[in-house]
This record gives sequence, structure tokens and C-alpha cells, in this order.
Amino acid sequence: MTKSASNRPEAASEQPWYRDGLRFECTGCGNCCTGAPGYVWVNQAEIEALAERLGMPVSRFERRYVRKIGIRRSLKEYANFDCVFLDRKTRKCTVYEQRPRQCRTWPFWKSNLRTPQTWKATCEVCPGSGQGKLYQLEKIEEQAAVVSV
Ligand code: SF4
Repeated sequence: MTKSASNRPEAASEQPWYRDGLRFECTGCGNCCTGAPGYVWVNQAEIEALAERLGMPVSRFERRYVRKIGIRRSLKEYANFDCVFLDRKTRKCTVYEQRPRQCRTWPFWKSNLRTPQTWKATCEVCPGSGQGKLYQLEKIEEQAAVVSV
């Protein structure tokens, strides 16, 4: 539904519920790379960077690691739904420096920030969320605008 324009004078200065910032500091647990089935969306630039990182032609990289979902492309998962680039022993990302934007901007995704309840649910699956370093509103908004997840 399209929102109608508001005549309330304070409307322009309304800020999101997380206006005072949110805390996040990754513990390296690997939960966000595992768990329920999901998608790690990748664009052409990310595919090329990952292929270069692995020293293989883009076409081979795509056949091995990428799946098409409609018109979009996602990294593949193992049968247990772990990300294909998660090291199964160490539980660490094996392409960390080239990780896609979706991974870089976690947990500040629009879907996680929608309400205090969605953020609480995020904190329940990600022990780093709600802890540690305080991120200011501006930085959170910047991250949330990078990809639509
Ligand atoms: S779930 Fe959170 S704390 Fe665990 S690896 Fe992912 S970002 Fe880090």
C-alpha cells in the first residue's frame, strides 16, 4: 500500500526505532552461514572476484558454486544447508576477504531492522548481534541500503 503524505510537522524528523544505534560484534560462531536453507545473492562483480580468488574461470566457478533462482543468482549450499564456502572443520568463511555484500552487511539488513521484534529474533540466531561495538544510525542505514535482504 502506498503511504499518503502526512501533514504532521514532526513527520520529516521521524527516525527509526534504532535511532540510538545498535550493537554488533561477530563472535565467529558461523551460525549465519549455516542453519535453515537460504540464499546468498551474488552479482556479476562478486562472482568474478570470487572466481579470481579461487583462480578459476568465471564459467567454471558458476557451474560449481552458483545456482540460478529466477533471474537472480545465489551461492550453492551443501546438503545440510551450510554455505558452500564455509570450512566444515573450522566453521570459518574460506573466502572472507571476497565475501558478498550480503555477508558484509549482516546483521543490518532491512528485514532484520524492520521492528524491535525482528531485531530480537536476529539476536537469537546471531550471538554477535546486540553485543559489542555500537554502530550509529548513519552507518546502519548505509549498510541496510547496500542490498535488499
Ligand atoms: S551468526 Fe553472528 S556472531 Fe555468528 S558468525 Fe554470523 S555474524 Fe558472527
